[in-house]
Amino acid sequence: MASSESLSSRIARATELVHGARSLTAFSGAGISTESGMSDFRSPGGVWDRYRMVTFQEFLGSHDARVEYWKMKSELFQELRDARPNRAHLALAELERLGKLTCLITQNIDGFHQEAGNRKVIELHGTNRKATCLSCGKEWRIEEIQVRLESGDLDPRCEKCGGFIKPATVSFGQAMPQGDLLKAFECAARADVFLMVGSSLQVEPAAGVPREAYRAGAKLIFINRTGTPLDHLATVVFRENAGEVLPHVVKQLAQRAAP
Ligand SMILES: [Zn+2]
Repeated sequence: MASSESLSSRIARATELVHGARSLTAFSGAGISTESGMSDFRSPGGVWDRYRMVTFQEFLGSHDARVEYWKMKSELFQELRDARPNRAHLALAELERLGKLTCLITQNIDGFHQEAGNRKVIELHGTNRKATCLSCGKEWRIEEIQVRLESGDLDPRCEKCGGFIKPATVSFGQAMPQGDLLKAFECAARADVFLMVGSSLQVEPAAGVPREAYRAGAKLIFINRTGTPLDHLATVVFRENAGEVLPHVVKQLAQRAAP
């Protein structure tokens, strides 16, 4: 449902909602990071288009699958190394700095929210910035593993216990961290305004988070390039880039807060 209402009018209404919010929860998906030059796994020509999905079970079961998986990850890390948080990430960080943001739930694994300055982040799909040993839980910064991959260690093992090393992300076939999922639903239920940025809301259970916020009485603001199955529940819908919307909301909010 495309809106005929002008962008400035929708920005004013979104600002009004955020200004009046007692508990603002934000929720982000891949769309917020495409503006940073990261591949959306659904976009053609992206990293995900050139590699087969390796499931968690395949990763555990075969050397070849691990090599294939790490080759894909290695390419993603190079992309990550060159990319930076964009205006939309920075605006969300500013909302937290202004004391407006209660929590930020993300489906992204790129760590840009933390790099932009957000501290209250729930990462539903884990993070690409760290790797862990699947056997003993030892952690590494991803840069350390990238060095090993580039020097020819294509199926890196834990030097402490010999276990498989894997990025600290949730793979296909791997369970989401239940504690984080529970926290996300609690944040959604407490919110009176829920700001969704850059998700097409196609993937469950994550898509259930805005539905839960709505059920609990929150007003929804959606910013996404394409329509979502929940657009009809939203009070304000933007199809513009988040980087063209959020900085204006934050700026108008700061003006209203000024004495
Ligand atoms: Zn280990």
